[in-house]
Amino acid sequence: MQWKNVLSTMKPYKPGRSTEEVKKAYQLEKVVKLASNENPYGCASSVAEFLSSASMPFEIYPDGHGTTLRTKLAEKHGVDESSILFGNGSDEIISIITRALLDEKVHTIMPTPTFPQYIHNAKIEGADITEIPLKNRHHDLDNFIGAINDRTAVIWVCNPNNPTGSLIPNDELESFLERVPQNILVVLDEAYFEYVTDPDHVDSVTLISRFPNIVVLRTFSKAYGLASFRIGYAVGSSDIITELNKVRNPFNNNTLAVAVASKALEDDAFIEKCRKLNEIQRERYKSFAFEKGLHIFDSETNFVLIEVPGDADEASEFLLRHGYIIRSGNALGTPGYVRITIGSEEQNTGLLEAFKLLLHEKGRE
Ligand SMILES: *Cc1c(COP(=O)(O)O)cnc(C)c1O
Repeated sequence: MQWKNVLSTMKPYKPGRSTEEVKKAYQLEKVVKLASNENPYGCASSVAEFLSSASMPFEIYPDGHGTTLRTKLAEKHGVDESSILFGNGSDEIISIITRALLDEKVHTIMPTPTFPQYIHNAKIEGADITEIPLKNRHHDLDNFIGAINDRTAVIWVCNPNNPTGSLIPNDELESFLERVPQNILVVLDEAYFEYVTDPDHVDSVTLISRFPNIVVLRTFSKAYGLASFRIGYAVGSSDIITELNKVRNPFNNNTLAVAVASKALEDDAFIEKCRKLNEIQRERYKSFAFEKGLHIFDSETNFVLIEVPGDADEASEFLLRHGYIIRSGNALGTPGYVRITIGSEEQNTGLLEAFKLLLHEKGRE
């Protein structure tokens, strides 16, 4: 076969270990997965009820336009219906953007460490990639500007950033956007938007009229608790959305997913509740880290990146043996740290107990 050369340097996505697999391997009765930033409270009960009674014409192709969901989202965001693009998760939107704009002749800029799908997709298209290391644990936006050249087509901004959880202050983001030439697409990936509690944070959808070269990515996978349905969306000027739509597969969202996401939008109280519970639990991790003298990144998300004693793979393995699946920073570009999804109160209590055992074993009380 005549594969693209770059494939020889790449590996298929390796999913985290499942709770069932870990139970078997370590002979544990209970295993808690705090590795993929899923919502520990599930989805809204109104959505679960809707699902149990939903009846749909499963033999009919989905509405490729996602009309019910589109109308509700357009209203929610105060934008035109033509400003929205749906993806099979925001993962697919990242791939649509890449296919539409990147090739061997084109340059793209992204932070590092960040969400790996930007570089993964850009590599497949053969784009020239500049990765800008975080500075003081934040996106180094001045260096992004410095890296722009006349072939730059897309700039990726992950806000708040995964795996660090940090949020770009509004004034910095806006001053950055003012300096980016209008013919470069700026992707603002905001998968954790619903978890942000910084009172000064501005909803970047409201920036689209001022900066028509941005697209904002949101998802139902995280706070909405609907990761298994694979539904995410982009909001941008209708000109940009129209072009991206040419690349989208016609039936990329299934009927049930669209109905469920649409139902989920009716329950703002659930999202509000999850944001508050998450904030309370996030504070526990911060106090813990402070008390133990471990560095923790300032998170505005439902995960924390926290320092561990010794090697992060070893620490993850230790926590795994104690029934907690988390992510080692070694695989995320943040050695010496682990990324923990903030669980429910009970799950976090258990995890912090296991963490104390780890500190004890390493002679750090
Ligand atoms: C989880 C995540 C996504 C992917 O979300 P899906 O909608 O489930 O594909 C995108 N971006 C970031 C930064 C994420 O953490």
